[in-house]
Amino acid sequence: MQINGTTKVYGIMGHPVAHSLSPALHNAAFQACGLNKVYVPFDVVDLPRAMDGFRALGVGGVSVTIPHKQAIIPHLDDIDPVAEKIGAVNTLLIEDNHIRGYNSDWIGANKALETIVDLPAATVLVLGAGGAARAIAFGLKEKGATVMIANRTVSKGEALARDLNCEYFPLSEIEDLEADALVNATSIGMLPAPEATPAPQALLQNIKAVMDAVYAPMETRLLAEAKQLGCKTVDGTQMLLFQGVAQFELWTGRAAPVEIMRKQLFSHLKGNAGN
Ligand code: NAP
Repeated sequence: MQINGTTKVYGIMGHPVAHSLSPALHNAAFQACGLNKVYVPFDVVDLPRAMDGFRALGVGGVSVTIPHKQAIIPHLDDIDPVAEKIGAVNTLLIEDNHIRGYNSDWIGANKALETIVDLPAATVLVLGAGGAARAIAFGLKEKGATVMIANRTVSKGEALARDLNCEYFPLSEIEDLEADALVNATSIGMLPAPEATPAPQALLQNIKAVMDAVYAPMETRLLAEAKQLGCKTVDGTQMLLFQGVAQFELWTGRAAPVEIMRKQLFSHLKGNAGN
């Protein structure tokens, strides 16, 4: 890549940010498409000053990660309506000093789920009520799916179900539920505790398709058990990949080189984690 006087700068803002896979993902995509763009990490503590900096320096777009996904909202000039409902922003588009916030997690989740289930017609049980569950569940509603929420902490699960106008179930009482698809958006099954699973076998017998948002390990115990029972499955790397694809397409207005991005992601996931 040749950086010169017309190179446009993009990046990821978080704290910490050194572990991020996004620079590898987006630089590979920019390069593959012959775009004069570069993507760098921004370790940011002072959010308002960073936003002024992006405007002043003519940065084109920024990914937003922990701990800024919610705190950034008051500093935006404009917000996409779905990101506003979710209450979290992970993507900035900066044009003529104007910063608009988006959430690409729900787009990534829908793209991944659509490979195994017909979403508008589906009833989907979402496990969890944290940031990932919120983005996934609101995205499913955007597609016309019927959503149910199950979570360990009742107050959080009920609050999300209220926002979505859908049913809530305690995580310990999901055995007899029936749904077309199940999404694990809890951190259960994630390294360093891959022996854990959020879904009892009896529940999996009532489900046709399973997605796990957890991507480390790639094949979680939940996905392995679901496969054994004949469910279609999709792992968390697909959501991760497609949320990056959505960012690339927003910033460039062109189709992303998906296979190149997938290859980058897989090679980095072997020894790394985080977006
Ligand atoms: P979060 O906001 O901290 O939420 C964590 C969720 O997991 C909460 O619902 C929490 O329930 C539940 N949970 C955690 N430990 C539990 C346990 N031992 N038993 C029962 N429930 C438990 O985290 P997040 O950002 O939503 O992330 C959740 C997972 O999604 C993580 O594994 C993350 O890596 C993954 N993720 C993947 C992608 C992707 O692109 N594939 C994107 C974002 C996140 P309580 O409310 O009861 O605490």
